[in-house]
Amino acid sequence: MMSGQPVIILKEGTQRETGKTALHDNIKAALVIADAVRSTLGPYGMDKMLVDSLGEVTITNDGATILKELEVEHPAAKMIVEVAKTQDSEVGDGTTTAVVLAGELLKRAEELIDKNVHPTVITIGFTKAKEKAFEILDEIALELKKDDAKLLQQVAATSLTGKNIGGANSFIAELAVKSVKEVAEESDGKTKVDVKRIKVEKKHGGSVHDSELVQGVVLDKERAHPRMPERVEDARIALITQALEIKKTEISSSIEIRDPAKIQQFLDEEEREQREMAEKLVAAGANVVICEKGISDVVQYYLSKSHVYAVQRAKKSDMEALARATGGRLIANLRDLSKGDLGSAKLVEERKIAGDAMTFITGCKNPKSVTVLLRGGTEHAVNDYERAFNDAMRAAAIALEDGKIVTGGGSAEMEVALRLRDYCAKVGGREQLAVDAFAEAMEFIPRTLAENAGKDPVDTLIELKSKHGKKGEGVHYGVSADDGKIKDMLKEKVLEPLRVKKQAIASATEVASMILRIDDVVAAKRPEEKGKEMSGGSSGMPPGMPPGM
Ligand code: ADP
Ligand code: MG
Repeated sequence: MMSGQPVIILKEGTQRETGKTALHDNIKAALVIADAVRSTLGPYGMDKMLVDSLGEVTITNDGATILKELEVEHPAAKMIVEVAKTQDSEVGDGTTTAVVLAGELLKRAEELIDKNVHPTVITIGFTKAKEKAFEILDEIALELKKDDAKLLQQVAATSLTGKNIGGANSFIAELAVKSVKEVAEESDGKTKVDVKRIKVEKKHGGSVHDSELVQGVVLDKERAHPRMPERVEDARIALITQALEIKKTEISSSIEIRDPAKIQQFLDEEEREQREMAEKLVAAGANVVICEKGISDVVQYYLSKSHVYAVQRAKKSDMEALARATGGRLIANLRDLSKGDLGSAKLVEERKIAGDAMTFITGCKNPKSVTVLLRGGTEHAVNDYERAFNDAMRAAAIALEDGKIVTGGGSAEMEVALRLRDYCAKVGGREQLAVDAFAEAMEFIPRTLAENAGKDPVDTLIELKSKHGKKGEGVHYGVSADDGKIKDMLKEKVLEPLRVKKQAIASATEVASMILRIDDVVAAKRPEEKGKEMSGGSSGMPPGMPPGM
């Protein structure tokens, strides 16, 4: 009989944790991440100095950036980092909020688990609370009219509070709103903003206030040859992705030519081939050629003889932007080129920006393509402006698309928390405990904002609650960036897209529930640990758990 004999189903070296131990460890790891970014939340958020393995230093208070840099190994902690990434790619803002909320939900869930509430009950309660929170947010959301550029600018500016861009906030916010409005399209009564149509080109030298919005595409490239025209009006543009040079054979071979006449013949042949490339382009009607690869000297020579403006080694993303803007088709084989493939633009010209020549393609067939030429004193500064511009642009785009915004400074979260408490009683049973825990987690946002502003969090919450308690009028009260005092965020112009708030709550709820459903962690032995002393083995931690967690 088999009885008494252990049944081995897992490979030797596999580590396993089950039940509450697994859950507690996962929650603990997730909380480490949430705690790490908590102090960066809001306009008063502190900075983190990150030093990577090469000694490169980054100073930032951006949650998404911090989490990207951290080399997290614990699986549950990784899930939290994923949430930040998703939040960032979906809406571009609210990453810290999402992570802090997820941490707080898990902390409250742990307390309930210790009181013997089953994790499944908690996740059901959380989901109900999330849905109710969405309803409440819809109720308290404000409308943003399409033509209200001022309000849109305030939404963009709110996404920039706390960013290290030395007073350029309103300038960047304005630039973002202008570019978003430029590319916005109406169809079936809906506004659509394709942010891909906004290309950012950076050039350091000068001040951020020299930045400009160009109606068209700007390439950080000069024309290929000084004999080419500097300016072409009514441009017909060929977009070529193949190299305009003699193809080199894959295998290196040598041809032995003894007869001098044959050498000349061989060279003539190569020359003819390249001349035909230029002729083919000109015959199709092109007076501008943008090539993703190189253009040989001979091809350049013939193109300039025909007064063609050519650019070589354009970026792939720029080729795509050009195709969109000029209505041209990307041609991978010159043989396929015909008149209909050419894009068009009113003007292609070379301009000097901070001493460097750049190519400006303006008056494009499709006007819904713009380039933002960002300027700044140093490369570092321009990179900061780019990050800021991207945030402001995303916020403005989302707010314009949805036409719905909420007030910030923790005001929306506070109102959601209060109304969720009223809803608790309707839920009843043990799930009610989870809804209540959810409400408390929401309150943690204004609480953290107050704490980061150096205010007493308990006093702030009490005052905030009493303001919100007054029916109807107190909805928009939150923690001010000026002094950490309680103020009307509508008057303070602290405004965020509704979608960003909803997404943060949704992702936090989702990851918390996912972690709560795990009751078994089976970790395979890592290849590099084979043969080594299993140092982590006795602690019962999954491999990769940093010491001291
Ligand atoms: P996240 O990564 O979640 O966007 P932030 O550090 O950008 O984190 O902080 C966002 C929080 O700061 C939001 O709750 C927002 O309402 C609040 N906030 C932003 N600007 C202000 C301001 N001027 N006054 C008060 N609160 C603000
Ligand atoms: Mg933000």
